[in-house]
Amino acid sequence: MTDPSALTAEAIAAIGKARTATELERVEVEYLGRKSGRVSKLLEGIGALNPEERAALGKAVNEAKRTIEEALSARRSQLEASRLADLAETEAIDVTFPGPPLERGHIHVLTQVRRQIETILESLGYQVELGPEVETEWFNFEALNITAGHPAREMWDSFYFSPELLLRAHTSPVQIHAMLRIKEPPIYIITPGRCYRRDAPEATRLPYFSQVEGLAVDRGLTFGDLKGTLLYMIQSLYGRERRVRVRPSFFPFTEPSFEFDVSCGICGGMGCKSCRHKGWLEVGGCGMVHPQVLRNGGIDPTQWNGYAWGFGIERMAMLKHDVDDMRLFYESDLRFLEQF
Ligand SMILES: [Zn+2]
Repeated sequence: MTDPSALTAEAIAAIGKARTATELERVEVEYLGRKSGRVSKLLEGIGALNPEERAALGKAVNEAKRTIEEALSARRSQLEASRLADLAETEAIDVTFPGPPLERGHIHVLTQVRRQIETILESLGYQVELGPEVETEWFNFEALNITAGHPAREMWDSFYFSPELLLRAHTSPVQIHAMLRIKEPPIYIITPGRCYRRDAPEATRLPYFSQVEGLAVDRGLTFGDLKGTLLYMIQSLYGRERRVRVRPSFFPFTEPSFEFDVSCGICGGMGCKSCRHKGWLEVGGCGMVHPQVLRNGGIDPTQWNGYAWGFGIERMAMLKHDVDDMRLFYESDLRFLEQF
């Protein structure tokens, strides 16, 4: 039979050798395990002993248990302390070290371009006018001379809430709201805002996009005034060397109507890959306000006349930054957005 004090000495030596908590646990199970622990086994055969011997062995075993438990607990604290000390050594945190700089966001490229356009036109005396994105058919179409059944309505294939209510397909309804509100010309406004059309997203069109339209109503305005305004805006935005040209077109709300183009910034109008060898890039539409539209805005076309233009902000930003896919503006990809 093993002597309890010899077993205790053996256990204490094993505890001293344990280098990790796991090793220590293994020692604990070996000596103090409930059934097969070596200390419990000391009691095997206790029944064959006389009462005095029995009491002496029981006492000695309890003593051994307590001593081993104490040694285990002391070693456990020792190991934990040295583990923390190692951690402090290897993963030291220098609290005086400056943290990594916080990433700062910036204004989205479309907002930048819109604000530039607003600033340029405000310097000419135009005021920003905003309007609702949910419109009635009358404001979105009828008032702009796009009557029911007019084939031009197909140009503005829209999202409807009801037969009467829709998401505006252009910012032109704001012109009508402005004329009805201001009543007395002169009126010089620009109307930046979001528009919606039933188009599948492609490189050059989106179901939602932003426009800026301009409207001037005054006495004796000429097409030269319109073209001068466009030229000033384009040169302020893209550079003094850029030129503007107009081509006859059709819009129900202007008469006459034109598309306006800007000379290619890469080839200077000579023709290159960027402008598909045309020398010109399409920007938007413009024209003299149709007398019926003035009338719908409560303005007497025999006293006043006007001009208007409109273009997409995405298109302007694409031309400014040489972006070839409109969808990039809305994909929130930082690799793209961080460039502006
Ligand atoms: Zn070119």
